[in-house]
Amino acid sequence: MTTAEMRAQGLGKWCNYAEATHSTKGEAAGLDNTPTQVQWENMQILVDRIYAPLCEHYLFRLPFDSFFRSPAVNKLVGGSSSSAHVLGQAIDIDCDGLGFVDNIQLVAYIRANFIFDQLILEFPDKNGKPSWVHVSFRAKGVNRKQVLRARKALVKKNGKLVETTVYDPI
Ligand SMILES: [Zn+2]
Repeated sequence: MTTAEMRAQGLGKWCNYAEATHSTKGEAAGLDNTPTQVQWENMQILVDRIYAPLCEHYLFRLPFDSFFRSPAVNKLVGGSSSSAHVLGQAIDIDCDGLGFVDNIQLVAYIRANFIFDQLILEFPDKNGKPSWVHVSFRAKGVNRKQVLRARKALVKKNGKLVETTVYDPI
């Protein structure tokens, strides 16, 4: 499938090509964020299995910050080199400010109703509300249904304290 065909076809009712490949930082830096056919197919599966059913449930296009990231964009935004975003298999949803659902409720709903690989509560505030919710789905292989909480911690590396993201299972 060509990029023009991806653009024309989109990912169904709830997500078009521009939204799925948008990266504010990547665009500002002039980086390409075009998925390959395999990445695009993974994105379609994630939308079909998780994102579209969520939007259907809430009857609302849930806002997301980051979906597909090319390796260059992923590096720029400091994503893990093994990030599922690079494969087109993860999306970062943020319900903050919507009113009818918040990120804690979104996590609970996904956990109870979906098969997923990882569901990550990203950097919760002091009330436990995640800044955003990362959810991934593997098109092939086992989906582990891991639920994790991400936090920043200082970890000693080569004698120096460096800020690292730590993932605690919950
Ligand atoms: Zn993410």
